Amino acid sequence: MSMYYPEPVSKLIEGFMKLPGIGPKTASRLAFHVLTMKEDDVLDLAKALVNAKRQLSYCSVCHNITDVDPCHICRDKRRDASMICVVQEPKDVVAMEKMREYEGYYHVLQGAISPMDGIGPEDIRIPDLLKRLSDEQVKEVILATNPNIEGEATAMYISRLIKPFGVRVTRIAHGLPVGGDLEYADEVTLSKALEGRREV
Ligand SMILES: [Zn+2]
Repeated sequence: MSMYYPEPVSKLIEGFMKLPGIGPKTASRLAFHVLTMKEDDVLDLAKALVNAKRQLSYCSVCHNITDVDPCHICRDKRRDASMICVVQEPKDVVAMEKMREYEGYYHVLQGAISPMDGIGPEDIRIPDLLKRLSDEQVKEVILATNPNIEGEATAMYISRLIKPFGVRVTRIAHGLPVGGDLEYADEVTLSKALEGRREV
């Protein structure tokens, strides 16, 4: 379909289609919207895209996205060093932080175990989590992976793995919509899920 458009437009459409959840229809709508934007706004958007890519990297401690290493959360000495909350993605840290109730540190797995997709425990940041447990004064690990098959499997795998370290391992409570993502849970639901966490 993009052959009907001038080349710069089809290039733009192809670019948008590389983003998650964007099909050909939305991509062409976005592309034509860009054509109606002021040149300054288009430049700002282009710069924001490039800067985000160039200036952000992953925290060497928790593997969250950051512009400084270690990240702002890992640098914050006022946090509770006895707790690490394990999440799948950087956006889950944002969801937890928005709730303003959790004061410990995080560990971002950057994925979940998924045999169907060929993702095993070594493909996500599990080995680094174990290293943190032996180095730091952690007393509780809260497993806040997503409430779907991959998230549950990952939580179970990790809990078995870290039991020998003698730390308390908890899983955030259900009440989160099953099959959903942590990031879509509202703050009240998430805060209840955290409050009702149970030892696993
Ligand atoms: Zn960090």
